[in-house]
Amino acid sequence: MKKPFVTLEQLQEMTKTYPTPFHLYDEKGIRENARKLKAAFAWNPGFKEYFAVKATPNPTILKILHEEGCGTDCSSLTELMMADRCGFSGSEIMFSSNDTPAEEFVLAAKLGATINLDDFTHIDFLKDTIGYIPETISCRFNPGGTFSIGASEEGFQVMDNPGEAKYGFTREQLFEGFKKLKAMGAKHFGIHAFLASNTLSNEYYPTLSGILFQLAVDLKKETGCDIRFINLSGGVGVPYRPEQPANDIAAIGEGVRKQYEAILTPAGMGDVAIFTELGRFMLAPYGHLVTKATHFKHTYKEYVGVDACAANLMRPAMYGAYHHITVMGKENAPCDHKYDVTGSLCENNDKFAVDRMLPEIDLGDLLVIHDTGAHGFSMGYNYNGRLRSAEVLLKEDGSTELIRRAETPDDYFATLIW
Ligand SMILES: *Cc1c(COP(=O)(O)O)cnc(C)c1O
Repeated sequence: MKKPFVTLEQLQEMTKTYPTPFHLYDEKGIRENARKLKAAFAWNPGFKEYFAVKATPNPTILKILHEEGCGTDCSSLTELMMADRCGFSGSEIMFSSNDTPAEEFVLAAKLGATINLDDFTHIDFLKDTIGYIPETISCRFNPGGTFSIGASEEGFQVMDNPGEAKYGFTREQLFEGFKKLKAMGAKHFGIHAFLASNTLSNEYYPTLSGILFQLAVDLKKETGCDIRFINLSGGVGVPYRPEQPANDIAAIGEGVRKQYEAILTPAGMGDVAIFTELGRFMLAPYGHLVTKATHFKHTYKEYVGVDACAANLMRPAMYGAYHHITVMGKENAPCDHKYDVTGSLCENNDKFAVDRMLPEIDLGDLLVIHDTGAHGFSMGYNYNGRLRSAEVLLKEDGSTELIRRAETPDDYFATLIW
């Protein structure tokens, strides 16, 4: 059973200050999980998690993760700007983007971020844009084909089919790229790959590491490049469904260590740092979208309308993704009513759940939509003129803090020219 990290009483208190809907984050859960990740990779002295900012772009969240030793993984101008303003600097920032605008390379270089190139042509583009090749540079690898470990909930709609993914260098391009970069002045190299999304398998990182470690050994042998880090990127998933098993991060860390000791250490590469760029694993379970039942409708189906909509959480509409729902105060009531839980967008896919068995809902009931801490608020949009909600932090001492106010009509109209 999935349990919310707040009680009904806490939520009732909060809704006096923060009107629904709002995104709520659990500081305690975020910190404890970040520490488990760090412990799982403590065997690797250079280990660092670069939190994928796109998952939860909020300064308070970024600062909490910074305190836990994380850097940031940015892929746009505003993400770089946010990381900078939050106090991340130099090698604490990874810049992993694709189809990259010139101004973003300029800012990444100015901040001293580690640039992770997505394509062979970006080598010349970077040089032409900033005037030099940084001493430390990384390249993203795409082995092509399919990668089938820990098949993800969203199936082919998400990235687990590298041959169809737009990212990264082919193997041949990577070897040529390293040689070219070295000739252009690069001294320290990194390798990055992201082959599958939301994996629920302790084997994803170990399998990926096996591929990347062997690649690193081959690259070093053929190009003589000094490989300093291997970036396993994101992709470690979370169990959105109650019956799914959670990943065991300690087992994942051990699995990567075995590959490291089998492949890198014997090749004299026992000083290579392991990096991760997790987003979902770091935040998803520690976020709830809190919403209220506002309407019932009975036609060919039973609908319960809530005051949140896909503009607040797009995953169900976009991927048909499952997000568990708890009707607060009715945690132990039988789930004997079948509902479609809908938002108010004029879009029929604006449904948080379809044919979901839930306890009988009354008007005004508070609903928690689970696992919305990553790729939740951040994927929000303004369709139908709907406004983005507030974000609230539940602090370790049980108090709350508004960490982003809700949008107002003025925000929505701010870019218009009348
Ligand atoms: C989205 C993304 C991540 C994070 O992915 P998760 O599935 O949230 O772990 C990491 N790195 C890059 C380059 C990404 O695009």
